[in-house]
Amino acid sequence: MQLKLTNTLSNKLDFFTPINNKNIKLYVCGPTVYDKPHIGNARSLVIYDVLYRILRELYGDNSVTFVRNITDIDDKIIQRAEELGILIKELTTEVIKNFHEDAEYLNCLLPTHEPKATETLDVMIEIIQKLINNGHAYTSNGHVYYNIESFPDYGKFSGKETDSLIQGSRIEIDNNKKHPADFVLWKPSQDKDLGVSYDSPWGLGRPGWHIECSAMSYKFLGTDFDIHGGGADLMFPHHTNEIAQSCCAFPGSKFANFWVHNGFLTVRGEKMSKSLGNFITIYDMRQKKVKGEIIRLLLLNSHYRSPMDYNEKALYDATETMNYFYRTLENFDLINFEQIKFENLPQDFIHSLCDDLNIHRAISIMFSLAKEINKSSNAESVTKAKILVSCGRVLGFFMENTGSWFHMDETDLEIENMIKERNMAKSVKNWEEADRIRNLLTAKGIMLEDNPYGQTIWRRVPSNL
Ligand code: AMP
Ligand code: ZN
Repeated sequence: MQLKLTNTLSNKLDFFTPINNKNIKLYVCGPTVYDKPHIGNARSLVIYDVLYRILRELYGDNSVTFVRNITDIDDKIIQRAEELGILIKELTTEVIKNFHEDAEYLNCLLPTHEPKATETLDVMIEIIQKLINNGHAYTSNGHVYYNIESFPDYGKFSGKETDSLIQGSRIEIDNNKKHPADFVLWKPSQDKDLGVSYDSPWGLGRPGWHIECSAMSYKFLGTDFDIHGGGADLMFPHHTNEIAQSCCAFPGSKFANFWVHNGFLTVRGEKMSKSLGNFITIYDMRQKKVKGEIIRLLLLNSHYRSPMDYNEKALYDATETMNYFYRTLENFDLINFEQIKFENLPQDFIHSLCDDLNIHRAISIMFSLAKEINKSSNAESVTKAKILVSCGRVLGFFMENTGSWFHMDETDLEIENMIKERNMAKSVKNWEEADRIRNLLTAKGIMLEDNPYGQTIWRRVPSNL
């Protein structure tokens, strides 16, 4: 089955045809490591993890090269390190470590290469030099700028005229520039000891953000590759500028054939972001002992291009669904289980994934399968359970055994005991004590729900929303 993807470049749903089907090349803009990522960043992380997994299923595990970079040179990093009074390297090392723990928690596969900007400066300098040599960049007052008027196709990608692009985004007014939308490739800075500046033919300084990705993709994937991904916020100026730089530095190259953009995770309709303060980090979720697979399901269970709203209900639903799957598979050995090959999985499941990554539909197919398994227990349900697990594995689920999924740790036992005490208090109509316990649990981020059968169900709720 051939994969179809919505390609931002053609602005339509296109059949994906690789340049070389023995080596599919995928590049995704990774994190800027100034702080712990939030679950909006995690949406991008898990979506491209699924795309990587599907490409591996379709073309073979060893036939896909996945590059996800780390932006470790950026103004936000410098500012943060200054605020904290620590060295840049200390900050980035810690944030990268946390990012790796987050990615593991979310069951993301390791990319083939994870280049850092700090390790790719030579390639950035090489590309900037090429751009100066062929008239697409100019030096001005210690800076090097890309000259957007030298590239007639500039902005074509975003489907907008240059003037409207400028109006719609924050472009620094700078007298050194020939055109207001010219963007910086290299800028001067002096603090070499702090790790803020590097040697270059244009003096001590540091690169602009966009050139970092052009260099890291070129180093590991060459001038032309198959798919470039990232969040929809990166379309302009970041991806527009990457295209301009790379296509002009390597005349005749197309850079990426397919551009894939994921929609935002929102909170009450607004993009989750650090600047708006409406965020919750992946680290917070780990601290609250929310299972990574629950967050993964939450983030994958809507179309990748549409915005999706994060709220308590969504978290509750994802928890219920994941528990339902694991309950369905109770007593089934998930660890020593041999997977069914992708091509032998239900056709509608494969078809959904190949149809512009309709993961939501694929999950609903898994849900129907689980319902069938729960309806009857016969030899057929074992076969169905195998299919269910194999489908889940394609999407990075069911990495735990059911025993450990439902296993309670010490904090869980403490909560259970407090609930028992509250129920005792309720049974003797000591409402004050019952409320006191409920309030204590609420303060711990535990939400109680008394169901009609006299049972109390509890769940963890992120507290800072
Ligand atoms: P950053 O660390 O800000 O460079 O972001 C890393 C990735 O996460 C980029 O691909 C962003 O487009 C993406 N991203 C940032 N915020 C959100 C959000 N609220 N929803 C979905 N993706 C996001
Ligand atoms: Zn990038």
